[in-house]
Amino acid sequence: MHGKEHLAQQAFRDILGATVSAAGGLNTDQFGTFAGDIPRTLSPRSAARAKARLGMQIAGTTLGLASEGSFSSGFGPLVENTEILLFIDKTLGLELVEGAVNISALPGGRRVDNADSALAFASAAGFPEQGVIVQSTNDNHLTVYKNFTQLSDLEETVDMLLTDQSTVTILPDYRAHKSPARAETIRRLSYQMARRLATPCSLCQAPGFGQVDIERGVPCSDCRSATALIAADLHGCGRCTHRTRIPRGQATADPQWCDYCNP
Ligand SMILES: [Zn+2]
Ligand SMILES: [Zn+2]
Repeated sequence: MHGKEHLAQQAFRDILGATVSAAGGLNTDQFGTFAGDIPRTLSPRSAARAKARLGMQIAGTTLGLASEGSFSSGFGPLVENTEILLFIDKTLGLELVEGAVNISALPGGRRVDNADSALAFASAAGFPEQGVIVQSTNDNHLTVYKNFTQLSDLEETVDMLLTDQSTVTILPDYRAHKSPARAETIRRLSYQMARRLATPCSLCQAPGFGQVDIERGVPCSDCRSATALIAADLHGCGRCTHRTRIPRGQATADPQWCDYCNP
């Protein structure tokens, strides 16, 4: 629905000689929307898996690719974007995930009580390349307005809603075709996934050997107790049990990261 196949095409062609195409008529909004008009009920990984499987079913392929992004603003003004890209090979029984966590440069949603604030928000977010969404609540009923292309349309909509006594909130549109920063993250993950698929398991030769986990616990330089700092990356195969541990090379952690020395 949002042209995400274009973000994966170059990586899959350049690295794997593979073609990425979107399954026709697939409505992924059924798994939830950023605008909040359809709630998300699945975990990001489950949602990505459901999208990939549905696409494979519609297109009649044994290979599927889907992405899922989530945005949280649990840390004051900062919005954290978690993005995952999930690949399925039904024949080999593979399900591979590449992920990224970024602090979004976009402001979180905010309530506005005049059209000028909405226009200032949109301009600061990078409108029109970066889209915005307007949510209005009236009598506990949420209505969502999106796909603005002109500031004048946005102004008109906000004015109309405020005249209507609605509560109006404006927020960035995180859909990939409306968010250049998110599109870039998905493009980067597509390269990571293509490179991973080009990496076979040294034991069973299945494609997709790569990072499956991390190991925390770099020892504190003062008291030697394990800190939460990442000590090693764990790589694994999606088909057999082969695993490798790649130390990050940090022998000790500064006591500022230690729960005992710096509680
Ligand atoms: Zn310590
Ligand atoms: Zn293997």
